[in-house]
Amino acid sequence: AAKQAGRNQYYAYTPNLKAMAERNLTIVNGLSTALANDEFTLYYQPQIDTHTNRILGLEALIRWKSPELGFVSPAQFIPIAEDTGMIKLIGDWVLNAAFKQTKQLVDEGYVDILVSVNLSAHQLREPLFAKRVAELLQQYKLTPRNICLEITESTAIFDLKKSLEICRALVELGISLSIDDFGTGFSSLSMLNRFPFKYIKIDRSLIQDIAMNINEAKVVQTIIELADRLGMRVIAEGVETEQQLSLLRNLGCHEVQGYLTGRPMPREQLMVFLEDYKK
Ligand code: C2E
Ligand code: MG
Ligand code: MG
Ligand code: MG
Repeated sequence: AAKQAGRNQYYAYTPNLKAMAERNLTIVNGLSTALANDEFTLYYQPQIDTHTNRILGLEALIRWKSPELGFVSPAQFIPIAEDTGMIKLIGDWVLNAAFKQTKQLVDEGYVDILVSVNLSAHQLREPLFAKRVAELLQQYKLTPRNICLEITESTAIFDLKKSLEICRALVELGISLSIDDFGTGFSSLSMLNRFPFKYIKIDRSLIQDIAMNINEAKVVQTIIELADRLGMRVIAEGVETEQQLSLLRNLGCHEVQGYLTGRPMPREQLMVFLEDYKK
């Protein structure tokens, strides 16, 4: 009977695996022409000061509209791009586009805006990465004060020594750094000591239940206290409700980023959002 069940299970999963493999293959093929066909764009999501309600920053988030698949989540295609090496070109495209658009924002009067860009594992192993960043700052006549780079523990873990070297060089340039998805890894605390982060971004999974579960709130409170002691700022990710926001404000969380205060949006919509926000 067990054998029978096992076999049924096997058959039940087969079509799914096949569909997944086919989808992945379509993604691999699609990514190889996506840059040339101009299929990527950047969306921006606001980061809000919990006390003044002002917009302090924007996170740049890549979007890919594939002709075959429609919008594909970066959570799905970025790992595939990493595996196939295509991340090299895509990562550089993101950096270039984000710097260029940040310069436009600064020129339009948003002189203090901080734009955050997600880095890939590949970029944190590239010996000339900091040099590339310096080059782009110069090309767009952008000050490093307007740029923050986000890394996760898993992007740094491949080569901690090299990643640390690159991060130090970036900070040397005047760029600020965030640790992204904080609370999801295993040794995030040791990362805090070793890497020159200015911001801790608390992962959405830790924020989700804070209004319902006192223990979850205590964990977040402890992270905020830790950040304060280390002289770092905290951004809570994935804030979706007023209850979460007011709790985070009371706990002393510096900034929030989530659907409540603004979804990721295309550039045109962002300009309207920023204008309306000033009023
Ligand atoms: P991330 O860097 O942690 O980005 C935050 C993700 O949370 C974004 O998903 C954002 O849309 C989503 N989010 C924000 N607020 C809320 C909320 O209130 N509720 C919910 N449910 N979700 C919220 P997105 O844009 O799909 O990106 C997923 C991940 O893909 C990012 O996580 C990041 O790891 C990666 N990624 C995105 N853009 C880039 C990029 O340009 N380069 C690289 N290397 N990775 C990127
Ligand atoms: Mg991020
Ligand atoms: Mg995150
Ligand atoms: Mg993430």
